[in-house]
Amino acid sequence: MADRRIILLGAPGAGKGTQAIRLHQQFNWAHISTGDMLREAVRNETELGKQAKAFMEKGELVTDDLIIALVKERLAKEDCKNGFILDGFPRTVVQAEKLEELLQELHIQLDGVVSINVPAEEIVGRLSQRRVCEKCGYVVQKEDGLDTGDNCPRCPAKIIRRKDDEPETVRNRLKVYEDQTSPLIRFYEERGALKPVEGIGSIDDIYQRILDQLEL
Ligand code: AMP
Repeated sequence: MADRRIILLGAPGAGKGTQAIRLHQQFNWAHISTGDMLREAVRNETELGKQAKAFMEKGELVTDDLIIALVKERLAKEDCKNGFILDGFPRTVVQAEKLEELLQELHIQLDGVVSINVPAEEIVGRLSQRRVCEKCGYVVQKEDGLDTGDNCPRCPAKIIRRKDDEPETVRNRLKVYEDQTSPLIRFYEERGALKPVEGIGSIDDIYQRILDQLEL
């Protein structure tokens, strides 16, 4: 089976989580979503969760040091051996630089950075409709017929609306994305690693574009 070690880059609501789950299902690469990991820490009231909660509720980024430690521990796990998908990390240039160091230490080479591009107007609409599984992070759109309180189609947990998908927080998250994360597009372009994908259209079409970019 093809092994790939990739980053999925894109604004909140660009479809990173949805596509990462599909890649995980098809190729069994570890799906590393720092957002899902942090939400789990908040639910379990761990020390990390306590430190991250206030930032997440405001749509701000959690400190680089916390996130880097989290990813470092995660990348050492056995399920990353045959590939991984970083979803929501890195989100700042500091994180990207630290990731480079970490991958060098681990003798791991990235296969590419898939950047999913969706216009801002579309993002705001999608996030207002977005509902997610509280446990596995599966994403649905309200207009597809699943809403808060329904059961997740993928695991038995409940569908919820993320607190940070409320309109005021969404505005802040998009600003944070513009200011702190979008410089990574240039960062990876300069390294010849960027694989841009049009993020508009059906989930299947976007998935196919990602596979094409990864030569799969
Ligand atoms: P996400 O599910 O990826 O949208 O992440 C939800 C929230 O978790 C973000 O708004 C941040 O508060 C926090 N978060 C997730 N990943 C990171 C990261 N790489 N760096 C800093 N904060 C993060």
